[in-house]
Amino acid sequence: MKIKVLDTTLRDGEQTPGVSLTPLEKLRIANKLDEIGVDYIEAGSAITSEGERESIKEVTQQGFNAEILSFSRPLTIDIDYCLDCDVEGVNLVVPTSDLHISDKLKMTREELIDLSNNAVDYCKDHGLTVELSAEDASRSDISFLKSVYQNGIECGADRICLCDTVGILTPDSSFELFSNFKDFKVPVSAHCHNDFGLAVANTLSAIKGGATTFHSTINGIGERAGNTSFEECVVSIDRLFSQFTTNIKINEIYDISKLVARSTGVYIQPNKAIVGENAFAHESGIHSDAIIKNSATYEPMTPELVGRKRKFVIGKHMGTHGLDNRLKELGLHVNKTQLQHICNDIKNLADKGKTVTDVDLQAIADNVLEINHEDRIKLDELTIVSGNKVMPTASVKIIFDGDEVLNAGVGLGPVDAAINALKSLDAFSDVDLIEYHVDAITGGTDAFIDVIIKLQKGDKVVSARGTEPDIINASVKAYVAGVNRLLRD
Ligand code: MN
Repeated sequence: MKIKVLDTTLRDGEQTPGVSLTPLEKLRIANKLDEIGVDYIEAGSAITSEGERESIKEVTQQGFNAEILSFSRPLTIDIDYCLDCDVEGVNLVVPTSDLHISDKLKMTREELIDLSNNAVDYCKDHGLTVELSAEDASRSDISFLKSVYQNGIECGADRICLCDTVGILTPDSSFELFSNFKDFKVPVSAHCHNDFGLAVANTLSAIKGGATTFHSTINGIGERAGNTSFEECVVSIDRLFSQFTTNIKINEIYDISKLVARSTGVYIQPNKAIVGENAFAHESGIHSDAIIKNSATYEPMTPELVGRKRKFVIGKHMGTHGLDNRLKELGLHVNKTQLQHICNDIKNLADKGKTVTDVDLQAIADNVLEINHEDRIKLDELTIVSGNKVMPTASVKIIFDGDEVLNAGVGLGPVDAAINALKSLDAFSDVDLIEYHVDAITGGTDAFIDVIIKLQKGDKVVSARGTEPDIINASVKAYVAGVNRLLRD
């Protein structure tokens, strides 16, 4: 059976504290959502602002396959704004718990039913598809909840949705709640929140209980602890349930996850399922060795399934197999004795509490193989001007293959300015900085700063570090070391 997906990244997801998206960012995300096969896109809440309406309109004009909806309260003013935006449907949200009805709306249950019916009528009179969403459904009196829906359906509501607004369902109670609506003649959706970390589990139970659509956001962003995470839910349905499928192109999941993380600035925890940095990373020697023999031993799915690549991490738990793999990826071929020697040196470094970067690995390998690499780029001079009234500006002098090259750059801060000054030089042109991580090794402002970065050139990714008392020098040192590593291939 096909389960449909309503994506609310652009509405509930944008309600993540501190997040607001520009119309262009919203359009980019909507484009990708449509491409990946989402069935419904909740593009925003039309009442919010003029800018919000502009971006919803922009989305409705694209002629997407997905049905475009706006959030709406059961009020004519909200619905009129939705109509202005040319959406096909509304997510009409009606609070149904006594707590919400009396404390928030200061109404009686009877008044609430009238409000809901009138709103559905008004929407249907104006040609809108209506998903009637009961807010706080999981804390509502079940017979009253049913009567709100029955009334709404008689007025023409096309679908109904149960919202676990504060995330208090459990997989058992979710199954039970949704089982109550099996005989309803319209599709039922589940809208779950993640306050107890159960949103995905509750959504899966809702589906087993009879829901045929679920609401989710990319990376699970949303108010408080967020919403049901799109990627976890879709992949679970695909991999763990044989009786259900979705229309989602699973191998594009990682792309859309990265796009949303970049646009919202809400970064993904490394151990997050499916899309986290470590979801397909292995350090342990026993695991790496087995995975090279047969990846199913320690992976429940291949990384390629969701558009990713497996990663072996260098560290003290790694064995010679994983290490040999990483060395080969860096273009280094070693014999058994050399491999063992490199492995020991890495474990020694890791035992001192250090993260081992590719540049460290290269240095260790060079040492063991007795190779003397001449770095092609040497930083000769770096000058920074920064303060509260000037735009941070950097000038650099580097020696590249023996030639002196000068350049300057500006940036949001001194580190950004220094990196920009380097980036406009030829040697750095097609190198992208994809990760930047800073740690103060000791306490005070005189601490040594450890900067670890990841650089990408084509499909090659290397990590590098710089450790200095000065954060700008440390950053530049790491950057130059990484580029030297990339230039070696
Ligand atoms: Mn919500």
